[in-house]
Amino acid sequence: MTGYGLSDAYRDAELLAGALHAALSGRRDEPAALAGYRSARDQIFRDVFELTCALAAYPPVPEFVELQKQLGQAIDQQSAELAARPLPGERELARA
Ligand SMILES: Cc1cc2nc3c(=O)[nH]c(=O)nc-3n(C[C@H](O)[C@H](O)[C@H](O)COP(=O)(O)OP(=O)(O)OC[C@H]3O[C@@H](n4cnc5c(N)ncnc54)[C@H](O)[C@@H]3O)c2cc1C
Repeated sequence: MTGYGLSDAYRDAELLAGALHAALSGRRDEPAALAGYRSARDQIFRDVFELTCALAAYPPVPEFVELQKQLGQAIDQQSAELAARPLPGERELARA
């Protein structure tokens, strides 16, 4: 519906990589690291997910157009939040 599935996949792979790195390097235990991944994913993704569900119901055109505008804003906000996060492994790479 939104053509956003590949972005979802890359975003979640990056969040999951960070959580697994924390678990495998011993900084967090695995259940806590994975629970942190799950809640970060759900929080970052919630608005886009709910707008996608609303668009998939094919509402009348004026509402559909309004939802598309909201989707654009939600994606911009999500992108800004993700860009503000540290990259997984960035510090380790800088030391190497
Ligand atoms: C026809 C079509 C067009 C699309 N067009 C777009 C588009 O234009 N833009 C866009 O952003 N998104 C698009 N998407 C959506 C996008 O492809 C998906 O959202 C994205 O690929 C999901 O990535 P993923 O890594 O979560 O899952 P997938 O890419 O489905 O990868 C899952 C992998 O796990 C493997 N697997 C499954 N079960 C097991 C198992 N038990 N053991 C081992 N391996 C397993 C599968 O074989 C697969 O390789 C499209 C999807 C389809 C079907």
